[in-house]
Amino acid sequence: MVDLLPEQIGLWQHIEATARGHFQRAAIREIRTPLLEATELFARGIGEATDVVGKEMYTFLDRGERSCTLRPEGTASVVRAAIQHGLLSQGAQRLWYAGPMFRYERPQAGRLRQFHQIGLEFLGFADPRSDVEAIAVAWDLLADLGVQQLRLELNSLGSAEDRTHYREALVAWLSERRDQLDPDSLDRLTRNPLRILDSKNEATQALLAGAPTLADALAPESRERFARVQAGLTALGIPFQLNPRLVRGLDYYSHTAFEITSSQLGAQATVCGGGRYDGLVEQLGGPPTAAIGWALGLERLVLLLAQAQEAAAFAKQLKRADRSGAAWAVLIGDSEAEQGQVILKPLRGEPPAGDNSGEHLPLQELLERFA
Ligand code: ATP
Ligand code: MG
Repeated sequence: MVDLLPEQIGLWQHIEATARGHFQRAAIREIRTPLLEATELFARGIGEATDVVGKEMYTFLDRGERSCTLRPEGTASVVRAAIQHGLLSQGAQRLWYAGPMFRYERPQAGRLRQFHQIGLEFLGFADPRSDVEAIAVAWDLLADLGVQQLRLELNSLGSAEDRTHYREALVAWLSERRDQLDPDSLDRLTRNPLRILDSKNEATQALLAGAPTLADALAPESRERFARVQAGLTALGIPFQLNPRLVRGLDYYSHTAFEITSSQLGAQATVCGGGRYDGLVEQLGGPPTAAIGWALGLERLVLLLAQAQEAAAFAKQLKRADRSGAAWAVLIGDSEAEQGQVILKPLRGEPPAGDNSGEHLPLQELLERFA
């Protein structure tokens, strides 16, 4: 868990204000729920077999011997609040939230134990156009913030029935090959077989190339629905890639599932993830209610924006060097400084074909060359 110091806070406030503006313009209203919930809510809502509930929750007994959990995500709490306060009887709800979430994970860049999410939930919307709109709100927000080179990956998990059929086919296929599965996947084979699809193990990934796919298991109506979501995104000019392995970590998803990723984030590449969860409201005791939502990780977004700002500052310095009339620029970044290297970049004449990045050389060699 980290402190956010005054020098970092500007970027956070900028993101929060920009998001608030987008939500206001789209008539999406804010909701704030407690950080602490009864453990039961997440066990029922997210699913016992998921990583989040099985391994990552901060759970403890309070002084009244009740099992409490620091919320690991926002959707279950928002749905609980909507049911508890009868919001759904007032019509469909377009809601957003922001705040800290808690997961007991191994901390690394872009993965913390207290992290922050901004999220959106559309409750009472079944039409494929609502999937498109939800995704478009996230996409526009990220574009407006100036995040570049994003990739939208899309899949359909089908209906609960489609998934039951698929699960059977997948388990049958994998069971014949259990000797080739890594221990984690073997464990998931009985607990949560669909999650094997996004295993990080390379041998398992290679094995899965021949496995039956979810796309083949979709009923015609599910397929038609997915086609309409894709057509809607295309009509809005939002590019996407289909990823048949994208299953998402939480149990409650159905039909559309998506992630927005950036290659600049290393292993923690997903900035925003979401999907449709038509069964959740009913599962938590509310009326049958179609719904779709997403959550965006603020720490990862801040990392991306800080990188972009650095690159922009760098480009500005180069422009100044160019205007100065100098023949060469010498660039020394953090990694160069560590290795005693410099980058020598010619500012005049044609750059060597195809390469504009400059020449790496040891500092000593530079000094000799220009002595
Ligand atoms: P991951 O695959 O990276 O573990 P997830 O599927 O667990 O992500 P979600 O539950 O969908 O993530 O949460 C939505 C977003 O919240 C993620 O895409 C990510 O940006 C962010 N997020 C999730 N867990 C963490 C964490 N421990 N630290 C920082 N950000 C996180
Ligand atoms: Mg996770």
